[in-house]
Amino acid sequence: MGTWMATIRFPDGVERYARYSTVVEALVSDLYPASHVHNYREEPAGEPLPTFRDRPRAPVDQLIPVVISHAPDDDRWHAVYCPQRCMIVGPVSPYRSWRIQEANDLVPGDGDGLRHLSQLRERGLCGAPVVDAPLTYRRYLSWGEDGDDQPPFTDIYADWAGGEMCRDCLLLALDQAE
Ligand SMILES: [Zn+2]
Repeated sequence: MGTWMATIRFPDGVERYARYSTVVEALVSDLYPASHVHNYREEPAGEPLPTFRDRPRAPVDQLIPVVISHAPDDDRWHAVYCPQRCMIVGPVSPYRSWRIQEANDLVPGDGDGLRHLSQLRERGLCGAPVVDAPLTYRRYLSWGEDGDDQPPFTDIYADWAGGEMCRDCLLLALDQAE
């Protein structure tokens, strides 16, 4: 029973629902307008909402930040929704979000006031020049490793609308990861 209901919360208070698989660690359905309880378990209900996969992705400033959680433990993460394709751009799970943070350094831009994602330390994924001084991330701990000095967990997609995180880098990291 690795499929649970995910709830997608939009900034205007609208909620959508989808199926989430703990086997592949991802949303595995289109979005639904409603949910109901079936066999003591919540699941998406009604007809899935239409998607437009062939349309171009909306410009970056029209993408919508959403908060997604999935049953049964209300595991929560931030993601981005495309209003043109009517689909989640990503990340499709907290695991994928964490993988992106593992694969990229978080680095300050060189004078642009933004934080970028980088794999080379000279440029962000978006091409902007960055300072060679990665900001601290919470790392994955090996078994038995002491994590007391770890910085708190960061969800870089939570900063989508905050104006300090480079959204081009966030999108490019998604394209690499998905
Ligand atoms: Zn960038």
